[in-house]
Amino acid sequence: MSKDVTHVAVLGSTGSIGRNTLEVMAASEGRLRAVSLAAYGNTALLLQQACSVRPRRIAVVDPTAAQRQDWSLLPPAIELSVGPESVLRLAADPEVDVVVCAIVGSAGLRSTWAALEAGKTVALANKESLVVAGPLITDLARRKKTNILPVDSEHSAIFQALQAGRREEVVRVLLTASGGPFRTFSLQQLTEVTVAEALAHPTWSMGPKITIDSATLMNKALEIVEARWLFDLRPEQICVVIHPQSIVHSMVEYRDGSVIAQLGPPDMKLPIQYALTWPERRPGPAAKLDWSQVMEFRFEPPDYERFPALKLGQEVAAAGGTAGAVLNGANEAAVAAFLEGRLAFHQIVPLCQAVVQRHHFESCPSLEQVIEADRWAREEVLHWTMQ
Ligand code: MG
Repeated sequence: MSKDVTHVAVLGSTGSIGRNTLEVMAASEGRLRAVSLAAYGNTALLLQQACSVRPRRIAVVDPTAAQRQDWSLLPPAIELSVGPESVLRLAADPEVDVVVCAIVGSAGLRSTWAALEAGKTVALANKESLVVAGPLITDLARRKKTNILPVDSEHSAIFQALQAGRREEVVRVLLTASGGPFRTFSLQQLTEVTVAEALAHPTWSMGPKITIDSATLMNKALEIVEARWLFDLRPEQICVVIHPQSIVHSMVEYRDGSVIAQLGPPDMKLPIQYALTWPERRPGPAAKLDWSQVMEFRFEPPDYERFPALKLGQEVAAAGGTAGAVLNGANEAAVAAFLEGRLAFHQIVPLCQAVVQRHHFESCPSLEQVIEADRWAREEVLHWTMQ
């Protein structure tokens, strides 16, 4: 496909990934064009983006937020629609080539599904889609003969490193993790972590939910599950390596012993741009490494005792079925409980583990069944944290 202009729908344009996506597109010299933007409820920023980017359509998921907003400044040529269904229509729009799925949490699953169903190339930032419904999503992409291109930095790195050899030559992927702000904390110190401490990530600047997930290493657990489905790997082929500098975004080890890595400063603009321009590489606004400076890279094996999320991620990746949906739902609810002061930091992962163990496992679930498993897990966490 060598078309001059790629038409893009940015679902989740007001979040951290969405804002970076618009920056990448603005620097593309017209090769990447936003046809539509959608946001959950940040209508003020969505309006501002619409005025500067001039898409054809915008959508707001939350009707209450849409109602509160004064839309008189919205250029009349831009069509506004409201409600969860409106985002699904943007995902399936015939004018769109690539859909950036960046709506946070499992709310993004339906838009990813709608985009694939319509045969769109999906640039996937919403890892929950794969964690919750990995086998269903990848099967749908296969049936529709379309591609899911990873926006997650680690998965983009694996995707790039996988191009260095054949699939049957891959021994394992080495998923790097910064280790989060509590990498060196003792078990005792982990029991005293406050919300403010957990929200300060050492290398990446991200939204609050993923920042907490990086501190518990649950983000890495979810990424293990994501990698398992995205690249059709056996769970034991996915190893986590702690790399505090977040420069090596992940690696692939081949059977001759070669390890192929992808490097770059911690800047989401690079994986976003690669997903939008693949298979081409273009100049772009992402930060570049400065090789005139001394750089030191450290790699260390993870401590499974202090960070039990990693084992849980491996177990859930091996189980498949509804386990991913339950882990994701439980974790979203547990992080919310922590941010609201109803749950201690060190209890987030054990609570998720308990909910995963208690759930009624289904090995070949339907989309409705994974959504129900996710809902059940959230309720379960709410029940435990409200007492
Ligand atoms: Mg990541």
